[in-house]
Amino acid sequence: SRVLIGGGSGFIGTALRKLLEHRGYQVTLISRTPGKNKITWDEVKKTGLPECYAVVGMQGSNILNIFRRWTDGFKKEVWDSRVETTKTLAQAISEASNPPKVWVSFSGVGYYKPSYVYDYDEDSPGGDFDYISQLATAWEEAAKLPAENTNTREVIIRSGVVLGRDGGAIKQMYFSFWFGSGGVIGDGMQFFPWIHINDLTRLVMHALENEKVTGVLNGVAPETITNWDFTKEFNTVLLRPGFFPLPRPIVNFALGEERAKMLTEGQAVVPKRTLESGFTFNFPKIKMAFDNMFSYRKWF
Ligand code: NDP
Repeated sequence: SRVLIGGGSGFIGTALRKLLEHRGYQVTLISRTPGKNKITWDEVKKTGLPECYAVVGMQGSNILNIFRRWTDGFKKEVWDSRVETTKTLAQAISEASNPPKVWVSFSGVGYYKPSYVYDYDEDSPGGDFDYISQLATAWEEAAKLPAENTNTREVIIRSGVVLGRDGGAIKQMYFSFWFGSGGVIGDGMQFFPWIHINDLTRLVMHALENEKVTGVLNGVAPETITNWDFTKEFNTVLLRPGFFPLPRPIVNFALGEERAKMLTEGQAVVPKRTLESGFTFNFPKIKMAFDNMFSYRKWF
């Protein structure tokens, strides 16, 4: 059966597509550009949803793109590329004559307010205190199907920082760590919610295939770590000293304070509903994740 993935050409989507194809699903990407095994957003708007078993929404302009200044224009692009596209998908699902069985839409742990004190599970409050949290709320709202929908199961995955060799945070940070200059951000005491890409794609699969899974799932590993723990593990696996801390003012200056908070602040997030739903992590601890990502180190 067919699975549609909005934004499926990116870092997470590529890994998900491979896993789905390995399990015998057909995958069609929804993209801004046409191509093989792809449909465009305009086509979805004009002709509706093609027949499919499931839809996964993970499109969005990369917020931490350091080549883009944090201007009102870029903020609107970041917002619309998630919220407007998700509205398009939700509407197409609700209007489909043969609707998909399940609809999984992404969101982020930026929903929860950074804190050194609180642990957040899926039922904790949030989503209303700054740009990123308001974006998470609007993104999740956009995914909601009309109340009369009973055919399509709805799942939201609030993801932490996704760790994998081929993209995302690790790829962005790899060179500074490789050169031995990867240090903590600020004092390093802020929490760093994370998940290994292999677990995240397995979590999507779990949501697609288990009829009991509904609602919000935190896409984070069970082990809560700080930016200091993350930095230490990264440097250990690369055999680097990692001397140079990155002072907050520099990060604020480079990224703009509003978005720099994604790095300089953090939240302790627990995957409560995720575990209750029966999901088991392959990489519950950060050390296991790094050993897996940089397993070539075992060769010498
Ligand atoms: P990528 O940047 O690798 O890929 C996202 C895809 O979205 C792109 O391949 C692109 O597909 C599409 N896209 C990019 N810009 C736009 C735009 N302006 N309008 C519409 N579509 C666009 O992201 P990831 O795979 O890393 O992440 C996927 C989703 O998960 C994102 O929404 C992200 O916010 C969320 N997430 C990611 C985390 C991470 O650590 N990576 C953490 C938490 C949440 P195409 O070119 O085919 O149109």
